[in-house]
Amino acid sequence: MPKPEGMDRRTGFLKKNLETLLPQKRVEYQNKKLRGIIQYAYKHSVAFKHKLDSAGLKPTDIQTVKDLEKIPITKKSDLVELQKQNPPFGGLEGVPIQSLRRIYISPGPINEPGEMEYQELGWAQGMVAGGFRPGDIVINTFSYHLVPFALHMVDNSLHRVGCITLPTGVGNTEQQVNLLKNFKATGFCGTPSFLLNIAEKAEEMKLDLRKDLNIQVGFVAAEMLPESLRSKLEEKFGMILRQSYGTADIGCLGYECMLKNGMHVPDDKIVEIVDPETGKQLPPGKTGEIVATTFNKVYPLIRFGTGDLSILTETRCPCGRTSPRLVKILGRVDQVTKVRGVFVHPGQAGEVGSKHPQIAKYQVVVTRKEHKDEMTFRVELKEETLQPEKLKEEIERSIRDVMKVRGEVQFVPKGTIPDEAKKIDDQRTWE
Ligand SMILES: [Zn+2]
Repeated sequence: MPKPEGMDRRTGFLKKNLETLLPQKRVEYQNKKLRGIIQYAYKHSVAFKHKLDSAGLKPTDIQTVKDLEKIPITKKSDLVELQKQNPPFGGLEGVPIQSLRRIYISPGPINEPGEMEYQELGWAQGMVAGGFRPGDIVINTFSYHLVPFALHMVDNSLHRVGCITLPTGVGNTEQQVNLLKNFKATGFCGTPSFLLNIAEKAEEMKLDLRKDLNIQVGFVAAEMLPESLRSKLEEKFGMILRQSYGTADIGCLGYECMLKNGMHVPDDKIVEIVDPETGKQLPPGKTGEIVATTFNKVYPLIRFGTGDLSILTETRCPCGRTSPRLVKILGRVDQVTKVRGVFVHPGQAGEVGSKHPQIAKYQVVVTRKEHKDEMTFRVELKEETLQPEKLKEEIERSIRDVMKVRGEVQFVPKGTIPDEAKKIDDQRTWE
């Protein structure tokens, strides 16, 4: 086995043929897998059969990804409800309980069937894309207790890549630092904030992060990873840090490659971006809810609504992977507001804010005048600007670029926007 030091971490795939499928082949592959899982789930999952029957659909009505639109979305709250009516799994499972290896419980609470042989590709694909290699010794600091992520998903995926896992779980930062040091561990799995805790603890223990520790790669999830935090951690440890996105229910839905330009959708999932009101698919570039379908026969979730917002892009990634990418996770569906027919959300407002360092505080106010929506971006500046008109124009251009809708900037005196103010204040009334 090659030593992790000095190896190529920047190129490579888990399943090259699959990850680099030509676009037309990818469409055919996905449609074929989709037809397979629809047939299977209809036959084996009581809940899915009921869903299709109630919608007046037959499995053969779903031939392509576009046809998925016909099936109503299943939300997390639906899973809870189904499981109450029909315990323990709500009829969502695709195999008898006796053939499971483990049962997990994720927040909700939602009972989850854990398959005998872990099949999911996504997290392992993300680890390889993020530089993990066979022979890496990795601490897995996610929680192993009841929830499926650390044990089922991350631990199994590390094994699939060929890594050696230290199943440390959460907490005990000092012990984690000692383990990292003693085993010269090369990889970290956990949240970005916990990696920062480790850095701070190690520094407190008078260790040199680059010399006394040997972390070369990090795989983070379950929290946002701001670019400022990523570069800080990469710099401190001299490491490569990449993030993934998914949910405890359906698994991985996106992972970053070396190029950090969004998150590649794994090849064993279908991700749609839909209008949260109608459930209809939106084209690439539009903001909407992430709705996912897995090919996992043990737990065949079809059109699972994550409640998270994102944008899908199909532009080619120079890394060679041909899967579409989630641009980034923008926030939660329940925080969106529709302005002149376009969804706007706090994450976008934050992006506008972060483009202009002069801004101290901001708040978006949506009003209605003569039956037309108006969006005002109220801004408190760190200090007065000599060219307010110029700055106003620049911010308004950012609003158009990021939020895809026009808004007017209004400078307000310091202290006008309360600390606890909602990022988007919808003041419209509809009488
Ligand atoms: Zn890529």
